[in-house]
Amino acid sequence: MNSINFIFLLTILSFASAVKVNYDGYKLYKISLKDDSEVQVLAKLQEARIGEFWEDGFRVDRDSKVMVSPQKHEQFIEFLRTENIEASLLLDDVQRTIDKQRNPENINASSSYLSYDWTAYHDLDTLYNWLDELEAHHPNVVKTVVMGQSVEGRDIKGIVINYHNDNAESDSHPLIGMLEGTLHSREWISVATVTWIIKEFLTSEDPEIRHLAETFEWHIFPVVNPDGYVYTFTDNRMWRKNRSPENTKTCAEGVDDDMSHGVDLNRNFEVEWMVIGASNDSCTNTYAGPIPFSEPESRAIAQYVRRLDQIGRLIYYIAFHSYTQLILVPYSHVYIENAWESRNYADMYEIAIKSADAIAKRYGTQYRVGLSANVMYPMSGGSFDWVKYDVNVPISYLIELRDLGEYGFLLPADQIIPTALETMDGLIEMDKNTKALNYY
Ligand SMILES: [Zn+2]
Repeated sequence: MNSINFIFLLTILSFASAVKVNYDGYKLYKISLKDDSEVQVLAKLQEARIGEFWEDGFRVDRDSKVMVSPQKHEQFIEFLRTENIEASLLLDDVQRTIDKQRNPENINASSSYLSYDWTAYHDLDTLYNWLDELEAHHPNVVKTVVMGQSVEGRDIKGIVINYHNDNAESDSHPLIGMLEGTLHSREWISVATVTWIIKEFLTSEDPEIRHLAETFEWHIFPVVNPDGYVYTFTDNRMWRKNRSPENTKTCAEGVDDDMSHGVDLNRNFEVEWMVIGASNDSCTNTYAGPIPFSEPESRAIAQYVRRLDQIGRLIYYIAFHSYTQLILVPYSHVYIENAWESRNYADMYEIAIKSADAIAKRYGTQYRVGLSANVMYPMSGGSFDWVKYDVNVPISYLIELRDLGEYGFLLPADQIIPTALETMDGLIEMDKNTKALNYY
């Protein structure tokens, strides 16, 4: 390469890095906490901004994952040594894993429906084009629907699947199920799984899937945080929040100011808002916003759910997130002794346990079930809790999909179809038991 080309290349590279967040050389570590004193030490590590944690909250029986930049690596290792903490290396180069997730190699499974497939992760335009295609191909069953606009003015688009549109069975007060995908934008397996469910509802010949598809009027939104989702493709793969510019400020040293550009939508709903597991600092990943429902995305979801509650019997609300393989039952701010606050907790728990068993049957994938405070961490202001709280939908869950943390948000594309298949097993089982318990 001659020197002019080399300078040209350098210019491109420096321009690119000025726009995009690059995770070259970042390492991902897992730390298993042995006791409460180690929990304190991790809080200190977070405070010192030596690494970026992938989850919020630390607890003794849970692994924590922390991502460390090449610049901070030496300091990180020194910190571990001083504090006598053990960490194991999960990913040697986070950017390499991101690149691999975007451009998977050697996936044998061939699976596609119209212009969409489940052998790779797809961006928002590809998704929205596909939803339009579905409407065109299933004019009597599928209608696209826009529940509102995001901060940056993008449509929050989904579809309604209704097999009783034009026949005598048409019901003025239908049974309804709603699926919410990708409130947190970096959790890409959520889009992939929700789109798979749509595909199965429209094309599967399995009688159990047909029953589930045709018993309910389904309102399905694969991406309810479109700005954040686009941002994970264009700028920062690890972006979680929406892109609200209202509260941008200068963040502490070691934290990019861009971090303050956004609200955690799953802390912004008006249910015990800012009570626990949420932050009032816009430089954090769990920033709850200045007031409940400050964000157009959360308001759009709430208005849509209330409307569904008026036009029919909303039986299911399921929010798909990742990762850690959990089925969370409302409410997330209470521990088990106060589980009764969501009136039919025991039924929701029992149904979820049976779903988890059904999920495990296919590949042995283990899901845990319970209150967020007990199986993960306490939090408040989440959408699925709000749906339970405000319209008392009988069955409301937040499902944390694969994996347990080996790849976390960077789950390889060859796990999309297995994840989707076992999740569908879980939904079928959920519906059997919900019906058996006379919820409809
Ligand atoms: Zn999430």
